[in-house]
Amino acid sequence: MSGAPRSRLLSKPLSALFDRISLWPQRWAEVQLRHPHRVMAAIAGLLMVGGTASYAVATLGPDASRMPTTEWVQSLPLPDGLQRQSDALPDWRLYRSEQTRSNDTAESLLNRLGIQDPGAVEFIRQSPLARAHLLGKAGRMARAESDHRNQLQELSVRWIADEKSERFQRLVLQRRKSGWGIELQTGTLSATTQLAGGIIQSSLFTATDQARIPDSIAVQLADIFSGDIDFHRNLRKGDRFSVVYETLEADGEPMRAGRVLSAEFVNNSKTHSAVWYKEPGQPKGEYYSLNGQSLRRAYLTSPLAFSRVTSGMGMRFHPIHQTWKAHTGVDYAAPTGTPVRSVGEGVVEMAGWSGGYGNTVVVRHRNGHSTLYAHLSKINVRKGQNISQGQELGAVGATGTATGPHLHFEFRVNGVHRDPLTLARQSESRPISAAAKSQFDQHVKQAQTDLAAAASVQLLAVQ
Ligand SMILES: [Zn+2]
Repeated sequence: MSGAPRSRLLSKPLSALFDRISLWPQRWAEVQLRHPHRVMAAIAGLLMVGGTASYAVATLGPDASRMPTTEWVQSLPLPDGLQRQSDALPDWRLYRSEQTRSNDTAESLLNRLGIQDPGAVEFIRQSPLARAHLLGKAGRMARAESDHRNQLQELSVRWIADEKSERFQRLVLQRRKSGWGIELQTGTLSATTQLAGGIIQSSLFTATDQARIPDSIAVQLADIFSGDIDFHRNLRKGDRFSVVYETLEADGEPMRAGRVLSAEFVNNSKTHSAVWYKEPGQPKGEYYSLNGQSLRRAYLTSPLAFSRVTSGMGMRFHPIHQTWKAHTGVDYAAPTGTPVRSVGEGVVEMAGWSGGYGNTVVVRHRNGHSTLYAHLSKINVRKGQNISQGQELGAVGATGTATGPHLHFEFRVNGVHRDPLTLARQSESRPISAAAKSQFDQHVKQAQTDLAAAASVQLLAVQ
């Protein structure tokens, strides 16, 4: 997707969010009727940062996204236009949602949805489509519509086949005049934006968990700023972040997190910003600083990808030599098997056993730079092989002279040891092209507005 449509996509739901929140509660009924899921998503967005306003908490509970939602359409006061539509309805309808469980029978699922309908139970039991996609599948959001006699009118369930997919599947079961109908459909996920923020107390994941930010967004954040901040070594208590990201929805129900659109990270009092932008004519977009420098660097700050497993582990210095100088490198504590990646592109100069280093890989980069990865439990590359940035070289282990599983990492310039912490700073970044600059600047203006909104949501949460 290009930069321009993305920016429109971004601005709409954000301004809408604040409209809706400020309209509470006078227009709540109207808004909920028109966009029930959007409002849920907006409130959930606010709640993600840890609960902001008591009315929201009281109404929706601590985790709106996991609560069954119930909407009584006719019981709400309606503005004139909607009242007329509502008068035309023959009877009221009840909508309820429930997560499916792996041990669900047709009866237990409908029971949880509050429906007593033996005919519907029988149909679900008999239908091969329902048996394949509804029963025995855990964690799918099922939504039921029933009438005033508690008869099922429609039951639909949505899911995505895999975490990367931009499409979703929908199974719809409907009461028709002639009997029950069932259909398997495919739809395209639609993106809405979420604002969130947090303050680091102990680790990034603790902060993102508190803010109810999905793991994939936390990992993206660490990845986006990986040229400037080593999330294993450089995080400080009190560091804070704001992030604007996509949530991909199916029929208004959030299905998975999408891409980070913009982010700001204040690390050790220094502010780093990123905005996703695709230059016209380029096949792919990437992240830029607000002044138009690509955040992609020749070197990553860390040879370990940031993950839940590695995030709690600090950097470990040699017990005798407390600094990298005496020790010639830095050690990362991590469980055996944690993937080790090359911090930059290059050629494998050495891959094999090397005395006290155990299983070792050395990668030669440009400008006389080389990096070394030691004590590996396994090696995935061979001498002479071309390596791209981030490519997996092997896995953490305790081979050679090592008291426990860890990665020993070194950086050398023309064979001389250098502080690995300075490695990423050797990289020069590439500016955005002159031709795209003015469009980019417009995009940045919007991103700044969104990030300011995300920051204010975060401040609300800590007050
Ligand atoms: Zn070491």
